[in-house]
Amino acid sequence: MCADHRPLARNGILIASVAAGFALLVYILVRRPDAGWQEFVWFAAFAATFVIRVPHAARARKGAVVEARKDIQERTLLSGMFLTMMLLPLIHLATGLFSVADYDLPAWVRGIGAVAQIPYLWLFHRSHADLGLNWSPGLEVRQDHRLVTAGIYARIRHPMYASIWITALAQPLLIHNWVAGGLVVPAFAAMWFLRVPREEALMRDRFGAEYDAYTARAGRLWPKFGR
Ligand code: SAH
Repeated sequence: MCADHRPLARNGILIASVAAGFALLVYILVRRPDAGWQEFVWFAAFAATFVIRVPHAARARKGAVVEARKDIQERTLLSGMFLTMMLLPLIHLATGLFSVADYDLPAWVRGIGAVAQIPYLWLFHRSHADLGLNWSPGLEVRQDHRLVTAGIYARIRHPMYASIWITALAQPLLIHNWVAGGLVVPAFAAMWFLRVPREEALMRDRFGAEYDAYTARAGRLWPKFGR
């Protein structure tokens, strides 16, 4: 008889996020009538990112963490991503605050940035779906953590980061501003080069030979094919 209210809470967060996004969109339309179509493509992909991630984040918060490697480096990297991938573009889109650092790009380059959102969102969704309860935003090991080696993880070890590479490289093509569009590239490069070795060490400490065998058959960023 005791109903499970968790899906309800998840839906609540999702609806609130979509409503907040919609309100912001209306605000941008009113405040910045000069905004280009490519900025709205970025915004739509940003909103879709939330729709994909929020249910996983809500579910992940409930699972117990048995090991976390959250030091100053990890916090700095995550803050850098939050700043360059969310906060600065949203502030710029809503206010044009950094317009002294604007540049322009031809329509075909904007087109590449727009089309790139398709593989980005597909990979981002697939990696969340395949990692399931083993996902966490930080360097963490969960209770009953399983090494995921199936689905999109069968051939690539970091499909979620691959998806973030795509969107990070596309962001300067859609938001034509060195601060709001461009800074995400060095921020994510730092994340990739500093975090990935630590994440792999965490997985190796946890799963030992099983992880070594997995790295032998799945590439870091590019799929490994063959036997
Ligand atoms: N680097 C992966 C996962 C990013 S989420 C990707 O790009 O797709 C980060 C967390 O996922 C890490 O803290 C780790 O706990 C977990 N993780 C990474 N690879 C995993 C795997 N193959 N199986 C299970 N958990 C994994």
